[in-house]
Amino acid sequence: MKTKIPPLDLKSEFRELRGALENRIQRVLAGGQYILGQEVEKFERAFAHFVGTKYAVGVASGTDALLISLMALGVKAGDEIITTPFTFISTATVIIRLGARPVFVDIDLDTCNLDPDLIEQKITRRTRGIIPVHLYGTPCRMDKIRQIAKKHGLFILEDCAQACGATFHGKRVGTFSEFGAFSFYPTKTLGAFGDAGAISTNDRKLYEQAKSLRHHGESTRNHSYHHKLVGINSRLDEIQAAILSTKLKHLTYWNRARRKAAERYHRLIQKFRLQVSIVSSNPPYGKSVFHQYVIRTRKRDQLRHSLLKGGIWVGVYYPVPLHLQPCFRFLGYQRGDFPQCESASAEVLSLPLYPQIDPADQNRVITEIKKSL
Ligand SMILES: *Cc1c(COP(=O)(O)O)cnc(C)c1O
Repeated sequence: MKTKIPPLDLKSEFRELRGALENRIQRVLAGGQYILGQEVEKFERAFAHFVGTKYAVGVASGTDALLISLMALGVKAGDEIITTPFTFISTATVIIRLGARPVFVDIDLDTCNLDPDLIEQKITRRTRGIIPVHLYGTPCRMDKIRQIAKKHGLFILEDCAQACGATFHGKRVGTFSEFGAFSFYPTKTLGAFGDAGAISTNDRKLYEQAKSLRHHGESTRNHSYHHKLVGINSRLDEIQAAILSTKLKHLTYWNRARRKAAERYHRLIQKFRLQVSIVSSNPPYGKSVFHQYVIRTRKRDQLRHSLLKGGIWVGVYYPVPLHLQPCFRFLGYQRGDFPQCESASAEVLSLPLYPQIDPADQNRVITEIKKSL
């Protein structure tokens, strides 16, 4: 029996940092402050510096980062928010939670990100903002999206959950808009040991709103018990913040290792002349962090099955587009509404990729694909 090739290897990442992490966690445990303390503040400063914004706010998850951003932007019932149907479910559920309506726009073939050329035709009197998602770690066309937002007076909220460190013309994602929303779910490129997220912004007022909203809308000082806004409980734990600060120092190195591994796949796919198209590559205007390494083929399901049988983990992100999800049926979308998205969901396949991946394993993945096709 051949050894398995996993989708990612969090255990070996932990082994790399074990000493540093355990020290830091011990300090938090002994320190007696477990929520919204110094560790959170330290992480927020370091993270804002990493992203390249003035401020960052630590929250309980990526989903909450999106939700709190929309709350701070004053999204309310009846508003329309433009986004992609090819993303994780929470990009759209947060819109619905505020009584607003997600308006989907099809994706472009090359990157699988929302196609900026299709946005304007969806703008109505009710449109308030756009949520571009930097899917798989590939940056969106932020120049075009910003142009449109400016012309129509819309906000932008970047969903950076998969793209921490990705750049558009040299600047990191999360800096091109009112808010960037990040997830530190353990499998993301910067992962906590549990749920966590953050919001980036350059706007002092929005920063203060977001900070207040994550803590029940309390006015600036914690435990003043004065509530100006109706907020939620979405605080970041000290332990998670300490872990994230420790890991953040390695993120640039890890992202570089991901890029190298992606290039290796790229070369191997060309060398073996595999009959697949490559979705994950650096676009001409920026750099991906390869949260996923994604290929496309009409024979996806057959290929997936045979790779899984050979012990090679492969995944599909995402098999069901949002406009066809049962929970969104009330929005009235139908099969055929977003042809690019629908064909992508039938054809995309993520190959194992993580900073510590063994090149020999990548060779095996490619050899198995060649055999199967
Ligand atoms: C992971 C993810 C989220 C949600 O983040 P959580 O931390 O799991 O709440 C939102 N959007 C995208 C694109 C994601 O990949």
